[in-house]
Order: sequence, then structure tokens, then C-alpha cells
Amino acid sequence: MNQAINPLLDRFTQLLGPTGVLTGNDVSARMIHVWRQEPIRAACILRPSTTEEVAAILRLCHEAGQTVVPHGGLTGLVQGCNGSEADVVLSLERMNRIEDLDAIGRTMTVQAGVPLEKLQQEAEKVGLMFPMDLGARGSCQIGGNVSTNAGGNRVIRFGMTRDNVLGLEAVLADGTVVTSLNTMIKNNAGYDLKHLFIGSEGTLGIVTRVVIRLREMAQGQQTAFVACDDFTQVAGFLRHIDRSMGGALCSFEVMWRDYYELVTSAPATNARPVPLEHEHYILCEALGTGHPQDAERFESVMMEALEQGLVADAAVAKSENERRAMWRIRDSVDQFFRYGPAFLYDVSLAIRDMDAYVKEVKRRLLEAYPAHHCFTLGHIGDGNIHFAIAVGSAAPEDHRRVNACVYEPLQPVGGSVSAEHGIGTEKIAYLPLSRSKTEIELMKRLKAALDPKHILNPGKVFPGP
Ligand code: ZN
Repeated sequence: MNQAINPLLDRFTQLLGPTGVLTGNDVSARMIHVWRQEPIRAACILRPSTTEEVAAILRLCHEAGQTVVPHGGLTGLVQGCNGSEADVVLSLERMNRIEDLDAIGRTMTVQAGVPLEKLQQEAEKVGLMFPMDLGARGSCQIGGNVSTNAGGNRVIRFGMTRDNVLGLEAVLADGTVVTSLNTMIKNNAGYDLKHLFIGSEGTLGIVTRVVIRLREMAQGQQTAFVACDDFTQVAGFLRHIDRSMGGALCSFEVMWRDYYELVTSAPATNARPVPLEHEHYILCEALGTGHPQDAERFESVMMEALEQGLVADAAVAKSENERRAMWRIRDSVDQFFRYGPAFLYDVSLAIRDMDAYVKEVKRRLLEAYPAHHCFTLGHIGDGNIHFAIAVGSAAPEDHRRVNACVYEPLQPVGGSVSAEHGIGTEKIAYLPLSRSKTEIELMKRLKAALDPKHILNPGKVFPGP
């Protein structure tokens, strides 16, 4: 136990009661990530149940210069929740209430610890949907989605988390509560403060409540699995289907041959909707209207694509089971680890630069690691590529070498080292590849203004002072 923190622990216990403060084995029995068997390292885990309790905790920590690491559902991929025995972990897991659902205004006000899947289900009960969706929906919490500006599979139609948040409440490092629970779509009264907290990874404040924007629930969807022989076809097909579906296109997930082969060969059990004879495979989906002619319209758009040579092959899902099987192929990312540890990447760049960029990354990998495995897929409509790269080692020097293969070719094309996962601690060294000196200086000025003692999620996004 960290000696310096003992007096604070008593204050925390007075404030939250014994169930609100975990120490010792109760801390180390919890894992730092839903995928990893690695215990949380912290002096204690605090579990407040109200905004006032969060504010009181931060007032105490600010006064004492005590560092605080916020935890959501622990599904992030850039080590943004890491800490040490000197840190206090602040978990919002008990702040999991849905406070208001306005079906007419199509908004929902929720506490930050509500799991994404739960609020999706609540919206569906009244015929609405929260369109943001990602694989970790069952574990991740809306507060974490907001803090990391999470993306997912429907960004092409509905945008990132940022585009689906109308207001929020955040507690600043010194305990000041900023309640900005705007429910309106239009509100230009001064600075839009919510954007300070969306995507800043818990370094500028702790998000405690969120107002999300809901949409009318789609009436079914049309889904196809398509093959292309080259990237020119992929880019041409994207424009064709987006134009032809009149804005209803909600997913455009591209898988390179390496990924498609991986997830449709043993021990994976996915069947191939189209043969493994092409370079690129696309899972595309459009929102339905419930009209009987939806399916007919979608099939004719696919036929046109085949006739115009925009795709080499196509299979349209004829049932919900077939649709699910197609999505299972896209979501079989557990196969990434078939050949041992894999480094995961999340970059973005202009669609027109993508083909050359991916080829350059693979050329550099082959030179550095002749026996590597690289699997490639992405939300190409959003300019987002994911790589999983296995080189038979998880050693830091290999990680750095593979990072160089992936990140360096981004700089000449103005790409980003993080499309949707954030910077955390993992990408700190590469932030200057994607952001200018003046941009990073302004980020640091905001940090110094809002958290002058650097107690909030220290060492994340950029190194501490
Ligand atoms: Zn993704």
C-alpha cells in the first residue's frame, strides 16, 4: 500500500462507504482489459454513484496532487486505462442509470457507466435507435465511448460518437461540475464545450452524464457480400452504392484477401459467401424502410454493379441468418491471434491513397520480417484501415519496428496514426506524425488550463510534464 495515500483513503471511505472503495486483493482481482489476464494496478478503485461524489473525490485529489485514472468498460486498445500503485482508479460502473428518454425529441439522458448495448436496447423499446455500434457493445460504457470518441461500423452514415452526443456533464480536475446537458440539435450559444471532453481520453475532465441523439429505427436492412479484383473497383463500387441507395448505406467494410482467407479457413468455421479468388471483399449494408420493394431495389443496384464491372462477384443475404453469417466474417477478429501475439493498428487516410499505402506497409514488413503475418481490413468509407500484424514476438523493440512500417508511410499522405482508438499511452511517440507542433502546443495549453496539476489520466495522449 502506498503510504502517501493512506490519509486520503480514510476520506474516500467516509465519502463513499466501504463498498465504494476497493483496495488490496479487491483491486488485483480485477483485470485491466476484457481480453487480458493482467491485474489492475492502483492504490484503490473508487466507485462513486453520483456526480456529487465524483466532484468530492476530485476536490480531495486535486488538493493532494493525487493522480486519477478513469475507467469505463476496459475495452480500449491503446492502454489508455493503464496506471500504477500510485494512482487512484475512478470507475463509473455504479453510475449506470438511464435518467430520461424523450421519444418525441429523440434524445436520451444517461449516466456515464451505462453499457452501450443497454442504451441501444432501451431506445429500441420505443422504436428508436442509437446508431453508434461496435464489437465491444456488451462491455463498453457510454462514458468511455464519449471520452475516446469511439467509431465503429456505421460511421459512414451516422458519424462518430461526437456526432451523436448533444450534451454532457463533466467534472473538472478541481471538482468543478460543468453541467451542459443540451438536448437541442442546434445550439450556437458560445463555445460548444462538450467537444473539450469528447475524445480527450479523460485528460481534461471526467464525463459523468451524457445526452445522446436517437434516430428512427431502421425497418430491416439489405446486406451483401461483394468481391473486387482491385482497389479501383472498391472505390468505384463505394460511390455507386452510396449514390444508388440515396443515403441509406450504413456500412462499407472492406476485407483484404489476407483477412478473408484467415477467417474462412480452419480452425475458423465461417463459410465463404463468394470464392477466395479476388483481392478485396466488401460487406455492405443499407438501412431498410420496411417497404416490400426494398430487396428488389437493392438487388438491382448489385446487378448494375456487376454489369458495369464495378465488382467481380456478389452474394446478397436472403435471410437474417445469412446476414449474421456475413457479419460474423467481419467480426472474427479473434482469429488475429492464430499465429501468436499480434500488434493491432487503426490508421486513417484518404481513400485515393489507400491502395498504395497498404502495399507500401506490406513491402516494409516483408523486408523487416520475411515470415510475418499481416491481416488487413477496415471501414473504408470512413478512410479507416485496421491491421493485425504478427511477427512471432511481442517484444517492445519489435513493436517499435512494426510501428515504423505502419506509421511512417502515413506522414507523406497526411494520414492519422489513430482513426478511432485514440492515443492512450501506446501511440504517444507517434502523435507528432499526425499533428503539427502548434496543434500539440494548443492541446497542452488546454490541458494546463483545465488540469494544472496534471492529475487526470496522467501520461496519456502526450507525456506528463
Ligand atoms: Zn474499427
